[in-house]
Amino acid sequence: MNDDDNDPLSGAHLDTLAVRAGIERTAQGEHAEPIFATSSYVFDNSAQAAARFSGDEPGNVYSRYTNPTVRTFEQRIAALEGAEAAVATASGMAAILSTCMALLKSGDHVVCSRDVFGTTTNLFGKFLAKFGVTVSFVPVRDQEAWGGAIRPDTAMLFTETPSNPLCEVADLAAMAALARDNDCLLVVDNCFCTPALQTPLALGADIVVHSATKYLDGQGRCVGGAVVGAESHMEEVLTFLRTCGPTMSAFNAWVFLKGLETLRLRMEAHSRSALALASWLCEQPAVEKVHYAGLEDHPGHALARAQQRAFGGVLSFQVRGGREEAWKCIDATRIMSLTANLGDAKTTIVHPATTTHGRLTEQERAAAGIADNLVRVAVGLEHVDDLKADLQRGFDTLG
Ligand SMILES: *Cc1c(COP(=O)(O)O)cnc(C)c1O
Repeated sequence: MNDDDNDPLSGAHLDTLAVRAGIERTAQGEHAEPIFATSSYVFDNSAQAAARFSGDEPGNVYSRYTNPTVRTFEQRIAALEGAEAAVATASGMAAILSTCMALLKSGDHVVCSRDVFGTTTNLFGKFLAKFGVTVSFVPVRDQEAWGGAIRPDTAMLFTETPSNPLCEVADLAAMAALARDNDCLLVVDNCFCTPALQTPLALGADIVVHSATKYLDGQGRCVGGAVVGAESHMEEVLTFLRTCGPTMSAFNAWVFLKGLETLRLRMEAHSRSALALASWLCEQPAVEKVHYAGLEDHPGHALARAQQRAFGGVLSFQVRGGREEAWKCIDATRIMSLTANLGDAKTTIVHPATTTHGRLTEQERAAAGIADNLVRVAVGLEHVDDLKADLQRGFDTLG
């Protein structure tokens, strides 16, 4: 690097930003990003302390406000999403909560995709409701339902795409236009694609939220999150965070920085293996239906092809039979991990109807398409032939 005033990373590719954005080397000359394991910071004198507290002088005061390792992570995820700024949070749920607390007020209405992460549904339905925020849920790809649910007091559209576990795809450009026409914000949970595969802000979304716990880490080590968007919005989110406290730790920020360095390579590998596994599953006599947007007959295929760079690592399939057959198939696997997490190097397998979606009523599950014979697989980085053999063990038990 030279002393050029121009930012050498301006216009750089995602791969380069993922490795280098946000680095502020200290006088020690360290090559890897340091972990600033400190809760507070020392001032040179009282005048500096006063200036830092008043905000007249930029700089660190306390790690609930700012931390250099966390700031590096924030700058890097902002660069990857093509955003002005980002705010790191303690978890993905803290990212969604902070966004809502900062940008919604009592009396506001939210239209939310029915197919979002279950805890997000609870956050809107159980907690934000206590503070006078109302919510309507609509099917993720039903554009007419989104339009029909908007009211004069609607302040936010919230969606997640592709959806979990059926991989339905929201039309982000159309939703951004709808949000603009109705003077509300479009917030997109980009956890499943990550900026390696999809950049919602470029399609017109206002804010992106992340569970960094998933693919940004990529190796199942830490819980964390991020909110990404315009400086003006991020200032409000940061003010909430500084006051209310769900901030990211320096250690976790460092783990996520290491995760981001390999993000694109991992997302391509997850996507490649998921597509191979989905295609193989389509040919298995024990399988009734496969849900993966990479398959040409999936209803979201054309849209996913247009707005994503690949189809991601999560797929689901229905075995012939019901819950018993699905459980048999899952329980026969010996490589995949039976856990509800995803976005890990290790492949995970789960039965949505009795775990992630177990609290829904039977009617709600039916409306959301969560059948009793549905199995979700979040494809990791093992060799895909070993994953096929693992699922084959299950199919062999089904006779
Ligand atoms: C896991 C997840 C979340 C919540 O993130 P945490 O880090 O567990 O709080 C939100 N959205 C999606 C899509 C997720 O998969």
